[in-house]
Amino acid sequence: MSENDLLFNSGILTDERQGAIRPPSGLWGAKKGGLVIVECPQRIPCNPCATSCPAGAILPFSDINDTPLIDYEKCTGCAICVAACPGLACFVIDLAFSEDKALYKLPYEMLPLPSKGDTVTCLGRGGEALARGTVEAVIEPKRDKTYVVHVSAPREFANGIRAIKAGV
Ligand code: SF4
Ligand code: SF4
Repeated sequence: MSENDLLFNSGILTDERQGAIRPPSGLWGAKKGGLVIVECPQRIPCNPCATSCPAGAILPFSDINDTPLIDYEKCTGCAICVAACPGLACFVIDLAFSEDKALYKLPYEMLPLPSKGDTVTCLGRGGEALARGTVEAVIEPKRDKTYVVHVSAPREFANGIRAIKAGV
């Protein structure tokens, strides 16, 4: 099965597929608060990531079907786009969180909500368990219905952790 078959037949993105927008490594490691990762490689009529970003870090679309482009110098790691993206395709990862852990700011639309201090299972794009994490904050949405859960977990999974399973 080719990479594109996997993406467009199952919805699961492979780790190094086209369309993964990741921060420049030097900037990513140094930026307290984190930087956005956008995993939205398919042209679809959707743009809340760009229209919600208060910093203009997700460049304005010239066509509603455009895929997102990022100006990483402008990204503050605020995670507003994480809550705004209906495809759950935006994530913020803070590699400057600690020596051995990153802070993952992940969209969360399940119930019950986890609480600060909970231990959760961190999942990859296919739902596979990658690591255990600790909930550092649960951010209630202001405009959108999607919560953003902040989880500290090993930084080596920065290219893998994209969701959590609470209650385990
Ligand atoms: S994290 Fe904040 S600043 Fe960065 S792209 Fe998302 S909304 Fe914009
Ligand atoms: S809001 Fe999400 S799904 Fe829509 S274009 Fe932006 S990243 Fe893609």
